[in-house]
Amino acid sequence: MFDKILIANRGEIACRVIHTAKKLGIRTVAVYSEADAQARHVKLADEAWLLGPAAPKASYLLGDKLIEIAKATGAQAIHPGYGFLSENEEFAAACEAAGVVFIGPPASSIAAMGSKSAAKQLMERALVPLVPGYHGDDQDPALLARETERIGFPVLIKASAGGGGKGMKIVERAEDFAAQLASAQREALASFGDDKVLVEKYLTKPRHVEIQVFADQHENCVYLFERDCSVQRRHQKVLEEAPAPGMSEERRRQMGEAACNAARAIGYVGAGTVEFILDTLTGEFYFMEMNTRLQVEHPVTEMITGQDLVEWQLRVADGERLPLLQEELHIHGHALEARIYAEDPAKDFLPAIGHLHVLRTPQVSQTIRIDSGVVEGDEISPYYDPMIAKLIVWGEDRPAALRRMRQALSEYRIVGLTTNVDFLATTVAHPAFATGNVDTGLIARHRAELIPAEQAVSHDLLAIASLAELAEITRLAALRRAQSNDPTSPWNDAAGWRLNEATHTELHFRDTSGDRIALAHYRCDGFIIEIEGESIACKLLQESHGQLRFDLNGRQLTADVIRHENELHLFVFGRHHVLQRFDPVLDGLDEQDDTGSLRAPMPGTVVAVLVTAGQTVEKGQPLIVLEAMKMEHTIAAPAAGLVTELLYQVGERVNEGTELILLNTET
Ligand code: ADP
Ligand code: ADP
Ligand code: MG
Repeated sequence: MFDKILIANRGEIACRVIHTAKKLGIRTVAVYSEADAQARHVKLADEAWLLGPAAPKASYLLGDKLIEIAKATGAQAIHPGYGFLSENEEFAAACEAAGVVFIGPPASSIAAMGSKSAAKQLMERALVPLVPGYHGDDQDPALLARETERIGFPVLIKASAGGGGKGMKIVERAEDFAAQLASAQREALASFGDDKVLVEKYLTKPRHVEIQVFADQHENCVYLFERDCSVQRRHQKVLEEAPAPGMSEERRRQMGEAACNAARAIGYVGAGTVEFILDTLTGEFYFMEMNTRLQVEHPVTEMITGQDLVEWQLRVADGERLPLLQEELHIHGHALEARIYAEDPAKDFLPAIGHLHVLRTPQVSQTIRIDSGVVEGDEISPYYDPMIAKLIVWGEDRPAALRRMRQALSEYRIVGLTTNVDFLATTVAHPAFATGNVDTGLIARHRAELIPAEQAVSHDLLAIASLAELAEITRLAALRRAQSNDPTSPWNDAAGWRLNEATHTELHFRDTSGDRIALAHYRCDGFIIEIEGESIACKLLQESHGQLRFDLNGRQLTADVIRHENELHLFVFGRHHVLQRFDPVLDGLDEQDDTGSLRAPMPGTVVAVLVTAGQTVEKGQPLIVLEAMKMEHTIAAPAAGLVTELLYQVGERVNEGTELILLNTET
């Protein structure tokens, strides 16, 4: 076995690999960019080497430099993780040439699967079933349009070199084809440096079911069963599970064997995933692509098989035989993974950036696993994937795993940036998911229930917020009293003491519906809190480090309250609620008038300007396209108006909040 390995990646996957290396007594070399100098993976490794500036091209994608560091540190092998150089055949070949083991398949296998088009040509020959489509080399737009007509709408345009759901466009009608093709090519070129595309039939109600395969250097190949990754947004997975709900033994064996055939056809070695798309209407399955690396969602497979796939990777790379044969592999129970992202589900899952002011997680155990590359205080930067953590749970069966997932999600406390935690909690609780009747359209179809419009905060929540504020007022008053030279002064008292008036305190909050006022009347055993005509009897029973135990109209409950700037974050009833606290005297001074200006939602590059100065536009009309965090974001007109000025041109970089275009909406 190797004595020392280099991990050519960052974030949770770098930490994940280091974990197994440590378990096996292998020393680890981490690498990092300037943005990651304080990152968790850097601290976990035995040593860490600086690569360069934050941009992946200047750091994590520097293949030669990585090999140099491996040489200099005496690392005998390089684990590429996923993303970055993991599916880069030149890098795999360069490692081989330099005498460093690439922990992955041979360069030739990566090459065979690197292009989705070429892979489909190959699979066609290996008799693996394919989705009807065009995957030829000729990229003439007229030919592509003709092929599309032949396949029949709807079709999906995919970047041949694609990954991570990028560069994919659904086309419903012939008249949209040209624009969608251009957009797919642009995204493909920006993300993968290659604008080649393929077109295939877009299945309307499919499931994404993939098979984990493993092959060694002695011609053995096994499948470690399937994962269902149908719950996706932007064609990217958010919830994954193993085994797939409703999978028959027969279908499992067919798909497993088809996947092993695919692997054998390209002389595969190591961990790989063969992705299939399953037509829920006909029950047919088709090859989609093969990912020649460890997959993000590999932990669900580990949970149900009891195997450590990174350990398997290391053993196989070292020339050992596969640890287990097909007959020795069994499914035990059910596992679910939820990807916790910094993103805003309400804004079409726009990635978010910011500071993890508070990050508290459920307790890990035999049945709850968290893979993460960040800790409280860290930054989610615009340079890399905005994943905060993977939460993986195990249960005896699917309902048990679901309950555990729901519970674990409700224990997350993240403050400082927008996350998808509540969205995930709502999704796993939704009947569409709970019944196991999943397909890739689940999120879109149930959008209204999964991403409810922000509502006015309930009276109960306002009462809880009031109790938290009253506890804070008491705490501050006690502090003042302790520091004062007149501790008995009524001015240092917090019991709502008034001259000539019943004792009460007015508390001001703000939510999406506007200003909310709570009037707290002091009673000897608690408060009567009056909110918009309703009176709620409240009592604070206990308070410690922001955790409140209280009584609301005779009901005893617990909530976590976290203050951040002028926000009050309430974690109660399994959900996260945010209220603004405000001072009515100072209010209204800093209101900003944003009409007529359109700002960049995050740092990025302008990739298309779709209007000209002097042009009138309709509400919702796309104005400018920004590429940020490897995705295209279209900025549309919030209202009809006249474009008065374009402030940026194609190719220019913009910062978050930068005004991009001036629009006069007063007509
Ligand atoms: P999976 O099927 O395992 O989710 P995908 O094929 O969807 O993998 O995407 C590849 C993985 O690589 C993603 O999960 C993502 O985390 C990572 N990735 C994608 N793009 C980048 C990038 N530009 N930089 C770093 N990592 C990336
Ligand atoms: P990536 O490399 O980005 O992972 P894939 O080809 O694996 O690209 O597709 C990603 C997702 O897009 C799939 O999991 C599936 O949800 C959806 N998808 C892909 N091909 C089709 C298709 N032909 N019809 C319907 N959905 C598809
Ligand atoms: Mg895929």
